[in-house]
Amino acid sequence: MRVLHMAGGFGAMLVALGVASAQGGPPGTRAGTTVKDGEPCPPGMTEVRPRNCRAPEMPAPSIVDYRPRSTLVTAEHKVPKARFAAIDFHGHPGSQMTNVAELEQMGAEMDAMNLGMMVTANNTSGDALAKQLAVVKSSAKMKDRVRILAGIDFRGVGPGWAAKAVAQLEADAAAGAVGIGEISKSLGLAYRKADGTLLKIDDPDLDPVWDAAARLKLPVFIHTADPQEFWQPIDYTNERWLELGLFPGRRYPADKNPSFEELMTERDHLFRTHPKTTFVAAHMGWHANDLARLGKMFDEMPNVNAEVGAVLYDIGRQPRGAHDFFIKYQDRILFGKDSYQPEEYPYYWRVFETRDEYFDYYRGYHAFWKLYGIDLPDAVLKKVYYQNALRITPALPKAGWPK
Ligand SMILES: [Zn+2]
Repeated sequence: MRVLHMAGGFGAMLVALGVASAQGGPPGTRAGTTVKDGEPCPPGMTEVRPRNCRAPEMPAPSIVDYRPRSTLVTAEHKVPKARFAAIDFHGHPGSQMTNVAELEQMGAEMDAMNLGMMVTANNTSGDALAKQLAVVKSSAKMKDRVRILAGIDFRGVGPGWAAKAVAQLEADAAAGAVGIGEISKSLGLAYRKADGTLLKIDDPDLDPVWDAAARLKLPVFIHTADPQEFWQPIDYTNERWLELGLFPGRRYPADKNPSFEELMTERDHLFRTHPKTTFVAAHMGWHANDLARLGKMFDEMPNVNAEVGAVLYDIGRQPRGAHDFFIKYQDRILFGKDSYQPEEYPYYWRVFETRDEYFDYYRGYHAFWKLYGIDLPDAVLKKVYYQNALRITPALPKAGWPK
């Protein structure tokens, strides 16, 4: 009632008279500023009534300082351990791969969150691969819980490159690599050919490698581009303003880089022209914010799968749409985490397994919004957590997984 009275009082009179004031008068009497239909409020103001903008009486906090406590009281179900043993298809352990004690320490951390297997995506090849495989094999506890994706060296692509790359890949597969990856976003954005030109994702010089991957039954785990906002102007409408401010290296100025859509076009052309090669698009192909687009890719390209690492903020902000998407495409989605931070995995379990509402994500700079559980049924959880990875990766150990 009090609010209605104020709005209909002095302020409304000033508005009616067309008087605008950014600062306003005493509390409760401030007129604010009128704007036309569809026009945004001036900086520092927000729309308090239709077409009427007002500035807060106190100085507004910056977005890094505004940390409202939620007063929502609702059921919370923290999920420290996955309901079914999971395979991390996007693993980036570091020194754990060269030191048995650290590897076994990681095993204890994996047990605590029910991560059954780590597939490392560190682009490892040759001697480095052999050394890491030896470390894994030397641990009775870990020898069946870690597998390694082989790396491809994209430097110097040109005449003679493919034969060498295929020979290295065959050697890496014979040594024990179970797939290829992570093909980094540098493919398309940074790698240059021997002739100095930018190496395109679908460059025909790379074809023998993708064909070899199909022949050797090695899935290809590929990260292309980055969130689309990284290509957009850093203004106050950019969803990733904070991240782009914190990590200037994540900006892709249009004059210096292929566009987001150019990269997607090259990637999709690669997927389409190698139907016998199994691909896993990291980070859901950066389409977790547009699941219809990813669904269309799945429909058109049966050789394409997607991994969920580092896009939980998009899955968890559309719980009903994401639930339906995961049900529909339950055979195409793989669990993966990206950066190895044991305390962050439980956020994934909670989003996938619960109906919890409005809870925090683990990185405020990725997403200023809250997450919701998408409540997947057990049969779908099993596919996402381990069955899809086992199916598309013939060289993974098949024993010991829940039925
Ligand atoms: Zn990665």
